[in-house]
Amino acid sequence: MTTAESSSLKVAIIGGGLVGALEACFFAKRGHNVRLYEYREDIRLVEEIRGRSINLALSARGRAALREVGLEDLLVKDHGIPMRARMIHGKDCSLTEILYDPVNKNCIYSVNRRYLNEVLLNAAEKYPNVRLYFNKKLVSADLERGKMTFLDRKTSEEEETSADLIVGADGAFSTVRRIMTKRPLYNFSQTYIEHGYMELCIPAKDDGKFAMAKNNLHIWPRGEFMMIALPNQDGSYTVTLFAPFETFNSLNTARKLLDFFREQFPDAVPLLGEDKLTEDFFSNKPLPLISIKCRPFHVQSSALIIGDAAHAMVPFYGQGMNTGFEDCLILDRLFETHRSDLSKVLPAFSEARCTDSHVICDLAMYNYIEMRDLVNKKSFIVRKHLDTFLYWLLPNTWVPLYNSVHFSRIPFHKCTANRSWQEKIIRRGAYFLITIIFAVLVGILSGQRIIKF
Ligand code: FAD
Repeated sequence: MTTAESSSLKVAIIGGGLVGALEACFFAKRGHNVRLYEYREDIRLVEEIRGRSINLALSARGRAALREVGLEDLLVKDHGIPMRARMIHGKDCSLTEILYDPVNKNCIYSVNRRYLNEVLLNAAEKYPNVRLYFNKKLVSADLERGKMTFLDRKTSEEEETSADLIVGADGAFSTVRRIMTKRPLYNFSQTYIEHGYMELCIPAKDDGKFAMAKNNLHIWPRGEFMMIALPNQDGSYTVTLFAPFETFNSLNTARKLLDFFREQFPDAVPLLGEDKLTEDFFSNKPLPLISIKCRPFHVQSSALIIGDAAHAMVPFYGQGMNTGFEDCLILDRLFETHRSDLSKVLPAFSEARCTDSHVICDLAMYNYIEMRDLVNKKSFIVRKHLDTFLYWLLPNTWVPLYNSVHFSRIPFHKCTANRSWQEKIIRRGAYFLITIIFAVLVGILSGQRIIKF
C-alpha cells in the first residue's frame, strides 16, 4: 500500500522488546494503527526475567529517539546513572580513571533494561491506536502480501492476520529476517565470537551505598578476557565477565574459580563475596555473543526489520540498543519526508541504515580488543590525550571516534571516515616531526665537525 499521510496504515510490529515498543510509540504518534505482537508474556506482570543484560549504557543516539516520544527525562534524568569515565582496575588493585569526554563533559547512562522496557510498553499502551498482544509467536509470514501466522502460546492455536506493513523488531534470532533471507539476492552473515559472557553482581553495601565509585563504567581488562561493572539504581553493580568459553569451562570447581578471581580481579573478590560469587557462577551458564549483518532491511513496500533483527552486534561499543533506537528515529524522519509512502520510505531506510549498521557491527568487534587489552597500553593513553587536546583545540574538526559514536548523531560511516583522516594526519605529523628531529641532529653533528676542522 502506498499512502499519503492522511490515511492511516495498519502496522504489525513483531517483538515487544526495547526497539519494538519504542517503534510502536513512533507509529502511534503519526496516527497509524499499531498492533504489537510479543512472544513472551507481559514482562510487567512477571517477577523475574531471565536472559540478557540487566543494565545497558544509553547514549546520544538512544536519547535523541526517546526525546522524540517524550521519554528522555524520565529515563535519563530521573532514572539513569551517569557514567563519566572508565575506571580501569589493575591486577595490583590500582585504579586509573579515563574520562569519556573531558572537553564537553558528556557521559553515558546506565539504565535498567527491564525498567526501560516497561516504560516503553506503558507509553505505547497509552496511545488509543496501539494494541499489545503477548504470548504471540510469529511462526510464518508472506512478507509481500502482509500476511502473518501467529502461534498463541497459551492456547497453542494458530491465528492468521494481515497488515499494510510488517515491522520485524524480533531481535537477533528474528523470524522476519529468516523469512527475508530466503528471498533471491538477499545478503546475510552471522558470526559468533569465541567468547561468552556471564552476569554476576556486586551488592550494595550494608548502608545501601555503592561499593565502588558510582559514576564510572568499571573495567578489569586482562588481555584475553575482561570484566566490567555498571551501577544500578539500588546501589548494586551488574558485573559481566567476558571470556573464551574454554576459560569458563576450565573454572569447573569452586577452588579453581576463586583462585582465578583472586589472581585476576583481587579487588573485586571481597565486593562480589566469595560465597555469592561461587553460587552465582555455578547457577549460571556463559551466554554466546553474535554479530549479524544483512542487506537490505526491507521487502518491497510491505516489510521491514529494525533493531537487533537487522543488526545484532557484540556489546562492546554499547551501541546495540542505541542503534536500534536511532533506527526508529530515522524511520520516522523518512515517513515525514516521503509522506508515509511505503514504496519510498522502505528502500530509503535500507539505503540510510545498512552500511551504517555494518560499520557499527565492525566497530563493536574492534572495541572488544580496545576494552580488554588496549586500555592497558601506554600508546592508547597517549593517543587518548592527544585526541582530547586536539578536540579541545579544534572542537568542530577533531572529534575523537568514541565521542562521535556516543555523543553525536554523525552517521557511523562518517565517524570511521573521520577517524581514518585523523590517523593520516597523525602519521604525517609524526613523519614530519621525525624528519625535523633528524635534520636538526644532522645539523648539530655537521656543525661540530666544522668546528673541529
Ligand atoms: P530484543 O531486545 O531481543 O527484543 C526482541 C523481542 O522480540 C523479544 O522481546 C522477543 O521475545 C521478541 N520475539 C522474538 N521472536 C519473536 C517471534 N517470533 N514472535 C514474536 N516476538 C518475538 N546495547 C546498548 O545500546 N548499550 C549497552 O550497554 C548494551 N549492553 C549489552 C550487553 C549485553 C550483554 C548484550 C547481550 C547486549 C547489550 N546491548 C547493549 C544490546 C541490546 O541489548 C540490544 O541491541 C537490544 O536489546 C535490541 O533490542 P531489540 O528490541 O531489537 O531486540
